[in-house]
Amino acid sequence: MVEVSQEVPESIGDTMSNRKNIVVLGPPGAGKGTQCEKISETYDIPHISTGKMLREHKDLETEHGTARDYMEKGDLVPDRVVYRILDHRLEKNDTKQGFVLDGFPRDMEQAKHLEERRELDLVISLEVDQEEIMVRLTGRRVCEDCGESFHIKFRPPEEEKVCDECGGDLIHRDDDKREVIEERLEEYRNKTLPLKEFYNDKDLLEEVDGNGSIEEVWKKTRQTLEETL
Ligand SMILES: [Zn+2]
Repeated sequence: MVEVSQEVPESIGDTMSNRKNIVVLGPPGAGKGTQCEKISETYDIPHISTGKMLREHKDLETEHGTARDYMEKGDLVPDRVVYRILDHRLEKNDTKQGFVLDGFPRDMEQAKHLEERRELDLVISLEVDQEEIMVRLTGRRVCEDCGESFHIKFRPPEEEKVCDECGGDLIHRDDDKREVIEERLEEYRNKTLPLKEFYNDKDLLEEVDGNGSIEEVWKKTRQTLEETL
């Protein structure tokens, strides 16, 4: 009897003080995935990216079908399916001490869903100048044969337009062209940017300057984490 009552407050205290439920916001090309990986390694919490989560759980049965049903038709996986998969993922034991979410929430409705499921401890917004995003994304070249990714400025191939790994042709994908990126940025401004105000009102938001090298951004991200968590 005594032992039980002693254990309870200890475990609650533990969970409260160590928990790191983190969301990282940022436009395409902000480097969210890279920073999330570093957060995940540093704090030993899972990096949950929407894309990876959907791929890993594409056969999870929900009352609205599986993610695979939509992906195979080339359709966007609807929110009601994404929610079931996210709920399933957050229930896993490895999220007990926290998680870092990447690509979710991307609009107000998703933010409200998340709010009903988990209390957040920190929301980081990676701030990157539009021109910097353009340089990062429009410079990407991908090998047609092996999928290896290059960058005309940051990782140029030894021979122009030829893959270092396999000798295949490097292509400039439509997704990496200026008009498409502008559309994605516009969508980010319209749908995702309002979340900053939502989280700021809850005193959860921290902006991090996402311009510069991966290491420079990580230094600032890490500082923010240490100061706020
Ligand atoms: Zn290749």
